[in-house]
Amino acid sequence: MDLKQYVTIVEDWPKPGIRFKDISTIMDNGEAYKYATDQIVEYAKTMDIDMIAGPEARGFIIGCPVAYAMGIGFAPVRKEGKLPREVIRAEYDLEYGTNVLTMHRDSIKPGQRVLIVDDLLATGGTVEATIKMIEEMGGIVAGCAFLIELSYLHGRDKLKGYDIRTLIEY
Ligand code: IMP
Repeated sequence: MDLKQYVTIVEDWPKPGIRFKDISTIMDNGEAYKYATDQIVEYAKTMDIDMIAGPEARGFIIGCPVAYAMGIGFAPVRKEGKLPREVIRAEYDLEYGTNVLTMHRDSIKPGQRVLIVDDLLATGGTVEATIKMIEEMGGIVAGCAFLIELSYLHGRDKLKGYDIRTLIEY
């Protein structure tokens, strides 16, 4: 299946000059959503993993069905102030300013092998911060899977040494 045809490009959103890749048109098509999820499940099956971690909100949409299919747990990565218990936090730079991500401090146990799942790899800041938190908790990042990679932003450069799988490339 050519998944790319189900991605909608939204011009000038959320601000002028950005061509937003909207995956909601993958999700609203049952066959495409299943195909995309299955591709990541196939990748997950090639490795020995204990947990999926996914950044809000679209990392949940892709990561949770993968965790369900694998019969393993899902650790949410959320913006600051959203998780109710003790968190670990990681800051990363945006074009203007910084962003903070958090995970529950006990969401990954030492030695657990984790697959990070998100919808899109852009600059790599989100996944880099997620890796940092997982490793601080003693987890091992087994790989990172994305529906979409914006290769012109060179996010992979931040992820040297990690196994990366992406399904659609721009
Ligand atoms: P990064 O941290 O620069 O790699 O950006 C990746 C994060 O931003 C992911 O969590 C995406 O959900 C979000 N993101 C950035 N650009 C897009 C886009 O064009 N479509 C959908 N999500 C995007």
